[in-house]
Amino acid sequence: MKIAVLPGDGIGTEIVAEAVKVLKVLNLDLTLETALVGGAAFEAHGHPLPDSTLKLAMDADAVLFGAVGDWKYDTLDRPLRPEQAILGLRKNMGLFANFRPAICYKQLTDASSLKPELVSGLDILIIRELTGDIYFGQPRGRRIATDGHFPGSEEAFDTMRYSRPEIERIAHVAFQAAQKRSKRVTSVDKANVLETFQLWKDVVSEVGLQYPDVALDHMYVDNAAMQLVKAPMKFDVVVTGNMFGDILSDAAAMLTGSIGMLPSASLNAKNQGLYEPSHGSAPDIAGKGIANPLATILSAAMMLRFSLDQAEAAARIEAAVDAVLSQGLRTPDIYSAGMTQVSTREMGDAVVKALG
Ligand code: NAD
Repeated sequence: MKIAVLPGDGIGTEIVAEAVKVLKVLNLDLTLETALVGGAAFEAHGHPLPDSTLKLAMDADAVLFGAVGDWKYDTLDRPLRPEQAILGLRKNMGLFANFRPAICYKQLTDASSLKPELVSGLDILIIRELTGDIYFGQPRGRRIATDGHFPGSEEAFDTMRYSRPEIERIAHVAFQAAQKRSKRVTSVDKANVLETFQLWKDVVSEVGLQYPDVALDHMYVDNAAMQLVKAPMKFDVVVTGNMFGDILSDAAAMLTGSIGMLPSASLNAKNQGLYEPSHGSAPDIAGKGIANPLATILSAAMMLRFSLDQAEAAARIEAAVDAVLSQGLRTPDIYSAGMTQVSTREMGDAVVKALG
């Protein structure tokens, strides 16, 4: 099983190192090959997603990704910015389905920004469409150097777009995921204002007729944002578009205690996947050895389960994460009084030790 390891920028290198350490002690037949991506690749090769990195990812059974980006690249032309690497990987690999489980570990209910009674036992699965919507809409074309922004002009635009097949396939993913859980799907849209999301709502409803065992409800995104912090336990599977999913899943992350706890999987139709923490490169804490590596370690577990057919090894990692939290080990983002504060590396070492 071939894994492309793309640590990227900022804390990406620190957290991916810990996940790799965990994968290595499992004694599985894994070949790990590392390549540059994002700002690191731009510095070395002049492009955030060099052909060699893209080829490595496309040829691998799975990709383990850290994070890309740094504020120092904000003045570059958009196609050269580090974040374009992740968009390029998603598009080229056809990674249309993004799974973001938001689980509040019982040991971390105090770290959540909500009252413990609101998040205790929380287990939401946000399914975000990943290759359509406003992030991949117009404008296109040689005249426009940077998305919708004509240098010197006073106006900028992006277009929101979804096609029926794009909505159908993500809806099927959501209904099938719900069949394995509590058989409830909430589809989040903005159909009251946007034609794109009226189509979304209509198509999700149609697909839902094929899953009579799954209850479907629809919610406008503004209400969903409110409900997520008011009564998050109401949700089970949430399916939504690219931009709304981006925003709602970060909000859901804080319910779990820290964005440093939230793994993600992005899959294509062949179950080939890219696995990454839901957070970014966190330049504010990069190099300090304090980033939480657990989201990345849990992403590696998702990789073993979804793309490499190693459910048992995945469950071992998840149990080891549970064990280190029960031991009271905490990186600063999830620290609370009475716990033991540890560094990124110490947290990775503890997970390795808990694996036995
Ligand atoms: P961010 O997720 O990097 O950081 C937001 C906040 O969360 C920061 O205070 C950071 O210190 C904290 N944080 C994030 N991950 C953490 C962890 N593992 N442990 C402890 N604390 C953690 O978001 P941002 O600051 O908005 O963006 C920083 C850069 O990351 C930008 O260049 C942005 O474009 C990029 N980004 C990349 C990805 C990706 O690679 N997929 C995703 C989001 C943002």
